[in-house]
Amino acid sequence: MPFTTTPADAPRSDLLVMFGASGDLARKKLFPALYRLEARGRLGIPVIGVALSDWSDADLRVQARQALLEDGEDIDEVVFERLARNMSYVSGNYSEVATFERLRERASNCEHPIFHLAVPPSLFGTVANGIASAGLAKGARLVIEKPFGRDHDSAVELNETLHEHFAESAIFRIDHFVGKEALRSLLVTRFANAITEPMWNRNVVDSVKITMAESFGVEDRGAFYDSVGAMRDVVQNHLLQMVALLAMEQPVNEGSKALRDEKAKVLTATRAVEPKHYVRGQYRGYLDVPGVRPDSDTETYAAMRLEIDSPRWSGVPFFLRAGKALHETVTEMTIEFKSPPRPLWLDEHTHCPRNSMRIEAKPQNFAAITWLHKEPGDTMMPQAITLAPPPDERADIGPEPYELLLEEAMKGDPTLFAREDTVLEQWRIVEPILTDVRPVEVYEPGTWGPRSASMLTRSHHGWPSEPPA
Ligand code: NDP
Repeated sequence: MPFTTTPADAPRSDLLVMFGASGDLARKKLFPALYRLEARGRLGIPVIGVALSDWSDADLRVQARQALLEDGEDIDEVVFERLARNMSYVSGNYSEVATFERLRERASNCEHPIFHLAVPPSLFGTVANGIASAGLAKGARLVIEKPFGRDHDSAVELNETLHEHFAESAIFRIDHFVGKEALRSLLVTRFANAITEPMWNRNVVDSVKITMAESFGVEDRGAFYDSVGAMRDVVQNHLLQMVALLAMEQPVNEGSKALRDEKAKVLTATRAVEPKHYVRGQYRGYLDVPGVRPDSDTETYAAMRLEIDSPRWSGVPFFLRAGKALHETVTEMTIEFKSPPRPLWLDEHTHCPRNSMRIEAKPQNFAAITWLHKEPGDTMMPQAITLAPPPDERADIGPEPYELLLEEAMKGDPTLFAREDTVLEQWRIVEPILTDVRPVEVYEPGTWGPRSASMLTRSHHGWPSEPPA
């Protein structure tokens, strides 16, 4: 059974226009996704790239091939030829009407184009207006990259600009994390197992901890990253979407509206973060990255405590952290359970792990439970064992997030995309810590970030993989 449910009356897109075809995202993610879609027989429509670079149609095909090689793709020439035959390119500035007129000439036979805006966020509105002024908005869909706005007000403004020409049902705001296998399997873990529901609430859960750590730095994206920072790059979107999926109630059915309603509800119940519960860090050496301002105060690390005012979660802290140049690359969600009211065979000197469920999204995708088991022999000492499924050989067969998301958008299925209300709630939650910022705390690359971040979780047994402070 597919995860999403396409509205019955949704026409399939008959043209894909890639604004930003010469950019970093196109090279790293979009060309590989298009190739794989074509290989699975799920594309088969014309693809027009639009960007400033003075390229020809042939140049676009060369760049697409190069992107696939860089991605390590073992290119099937028959598939590539099918894709390449369908590809063409329009060169032009997005602030010029002529660019969109040239695009219209190429797109004249299509009724339901899909426009992917892989362009700098400051140009989302400009491109949407250009599409509309060329008369191309009717029957069309718009895929918008992140970040959607820089704060709550700018997101409201951007929504208003887009809604001048596109209905909400035609807007697909990408958060590629939601397309990850681990996040989709989280819903099965939560709602297909009878034993999960009774232990997924404030009676049993002590805290929830979410980590998105990268062992590498900003690399060659200094100028981009310096204007964004960890909070806007990954916390406001990816990490809060993870919170929503972990904490929401069971949707009333498998439909897109039901799922998105539950996500919106739990985000609405989440309090705005208090500045005292927020830690910002910057790794030593960040200021030497090309493109970064010499006196930059941009955070490469963010950690915070969230509270959700719902009957299920009231009083259970959700700790979030994300950062670059950390000890390892891992994305994980840990649900830590309370101790039994009066534990037997454990005294205050026994440091035994507690019950927990750990869901790893990267580098692997699995869920594991830690519980206590009697140590063998003449003792009643408990020892912790972790129950994890054996590695699944089929782990790599599913579509990559961009492949899946592009396909869903072309079908017109919004399930995996962020709705207007959830994006605004996500900005509301982080708004106080966007404006009330303390100076960043410098941390050494290869560590787990600033020391103050350990203090955040001190009364809840520390962060996973790190000794308590
Ligand atoms: P880049 O700066 O690498 O690419 C921007 C693209 O927009 C290029 O194709 C550029 O054309 C084109 N462009 C910019 N200004 C104009 C203009 N005035 N007229 C015509 N074309 C223009 O950005 P990214 O690819 O990195 O990012 C694109 C979007 O995707 C952003 O919103 C970003 O936040 C988002 N994103 C990026 C990720 C990544 O890993 N790169 C990850 C997740 C989201 P040209 O190069 O020819 O000048």
